[in-house]
Amino acid sequence: EVTWPDGNGESNGTEKKQKARVLFMRVIRLYRPDFLFMLGAFIFLALAVLCEMFIPFYTGKVIDILQSQYQWNEFLVAIVFMGLFSLGSSFSAGSRGGLFMCAIARFTKRIKVQLFGALVRQEIGFFDTTKTGDITSRLTIDTNLMGRAVALNVNVLVRTFIRTLGMLSLMLSLSWKLTVLTLMEMPLTGLAQNMYDTYYQKLSKEVQDSMARTNDTAEEVLSGIRTVRGFNAERSESRHYGARLMDTHNLKTHRDTVRAVYLLVRRVKYLSIHLSLVAMLYYGRLIIQSGQMSTGNLVSFLLYQSDLADNIRTLIYIFGDMLNSVGAAGKVFDYLDREPKVKTKGTLKPDTLKGHVQFQNLTFSYPTQAEHQVFKSFSLELKPGKMTVLVGPSGGGKTTCVSLLERFYQAQQGEILLDGLPLQSYQHKYLHNQIVMVGQEPVLFSGSVKDNITYGLENCSLERVQEAARKANAHEFICQLEKGYDTDVGERGSLLAGGQKQRIAIARALVREPQVLILDEVTSSLDMESENMVQQTLANCPNQTLLVIAHRLKTIERADQIVVIDGGTVAERGTHEELMDKKGSYYRLRERLFTDHNTTQGQH
Ligand code: ADP
Ligand code: MG
Repeated sequence: EVTWPDGNGESNGTEKKQKARVLFMRVIRLYRPDFLFMLGAFIFLALAVLCEMFIPFYTGKVIDILQSQYQWNEFLVAIVFMGLFSLGSSFSAGSRGGLFMCAIARFTKRIKVQLFGALVRQEIGFFDTTKTGDITSRLTIDTNLMGRAVALNVNVLVRTFIRTLGMLSLMLSLSWKLTVLTLMEMPLTGLAQNMYDTYYQKLSKEVQDSMARTNDTAEEVLSGIRTVRGFNAERSESRHYGARLMDTHNLKTHRDTVRAVYLLVRRVKYLSIHLSLVAMLYYGRLIIQSGQMSTGNLVSFLLYQSDLADNIRTLIYIFGDMLNSVGAAGKVFDYLDREPKVKTKGTLKPDTLKGHVQFQNLTFSYPTQAEHQVFKSFSLELKPGKMTVLVGPSGGGKTTCVSLLERFYQAQQGEILLDGLPLQSYQHKYLHNQIVMVGQEPVLFSGSVKDNITYGLENCSLERVQEAARKANAHEFICQLEKGYDTDVGERGSLLAGGQKQRIAIARALVREPQVLILDEVTSSLDMESENMVQQTLANCPNQTLLVIAHRLKTIERADQIVVIDGGTVAERGTHEELMDKKGSYYRLRERLFTDHNTTQGQH
């Protein structure tokens, strides 16, 4: 894993620069597909700089012509040349900008697609440990920054470099004495400028970070608005947001004060420039009087000289900025290069699958809580074509079983076998067509009902969709929706009721005709009617291996085996009758549920 040293990490300055250089070159190489755009841009860039450079030269020339006994056409030719160079420079500059923007846009699009692809391949543990806001900001902000920063920096660097070289040589050819004089006063102002820039950048970054924190707060509150409302936390959340905003505001004020002071002081800098101009004029007059230089030449020289300082400053600045600009690139590459910790490299895809699942001596802890072992040597068998029901107290490890079977996580020790072969030897796509899960909270995506049922499948006929919906007892209500299967479900399915969403989620699982079907507490958020529907659904799947996590379902009693999972181990196992006779933990669990149920009913 590539790590990017941010700020003052342990790595020292040179190492950091070295890393930045590597990153920079990598970004440049990634621009290869846009080579033609870049080449065009650089050609126009060079043209623009050349054209620009001749304008002061011709300005001086015009002045000399005006001072002499001139011919009109001599004057006109000089003016026309000036005009042509001016036109040429603006045309080239425009083309250069356009081509650069094209290249950057193409680059950014490519990187975003690559990064997104890399992100969705990461193991689930990655998403447990990484903030969604961090991921999306890399996908949006950092990808934009990296292409732009590097391309623009190279653009400015090349432009400034050519310009500085050209101007220096033209200035030297006009008067080496004045050139030396100019170069002497420059380093001082340059140094001061550099110090200011570094400080200002640091402040800007602080402001940005603080703004990101503020936005995170808002995002979290808005996405959990139901909870906020339900707990009457609007005021405290507003206060919290206000406090965050205040921090940002204070940082901003500090930054802007620094900027204001700088602008004030810059006036003084102009004064020094004007003083040096006076010095130049004084010297220049002496040189002109001694006949070494014409007045026009002096004007040309002064025009160059005023630009030169700016250019050299940019040149110094850009070297620093180039290294900073790859910060964003570093962050993007971190994710782009990240190898998923749970790999899906299997190739097996047998034509027939019995759906025999064996958990063998699993030891497992979640990546976010490595010290807490959820399973220690956990074993469980799901017989092919049979129904297994998991019950047990919350936090016992039932959902973890499902997550491991779905290969969301990888157990540290032990193995899960499917038809006798390790789960990871099966092809990823095959596996997720054969082992399909319906979770406790159905997650739908914006789109139509049909889109949601065929999610992840290509070419799925409407007949198959309808058949699955019928089995899931969803067909009837879907037909009653305004546009039937084409009805939009809204963002995260917000336009549907909980039970409806759940049944669509079940249809989505059934349409794949999986050999192993997992239902994780699908009934806990359902009303009685929907619950009965789910029972029927289960009756509709006689040949599949079923793993059902449920407490209340009547069907439990008909299950081939009931497993009580408590504290990450199998506490009890058997059929309903066996376990009831045993009067162990299953019996007590049922009893508690039963009395709960009765009291609830009694209240109605
Ligand atoms: P059940 O489904 O039986 O209620 P779980 O399998 O969800 O229980 O949880 C088992 C244990 O694993 C609990 O102690 C829980 O805190 C922990 N756990 C569950 N999911 C995660 C997760 N994503 N990251 C860290 N710990 C988790
Ligand atoms: Mg659970």
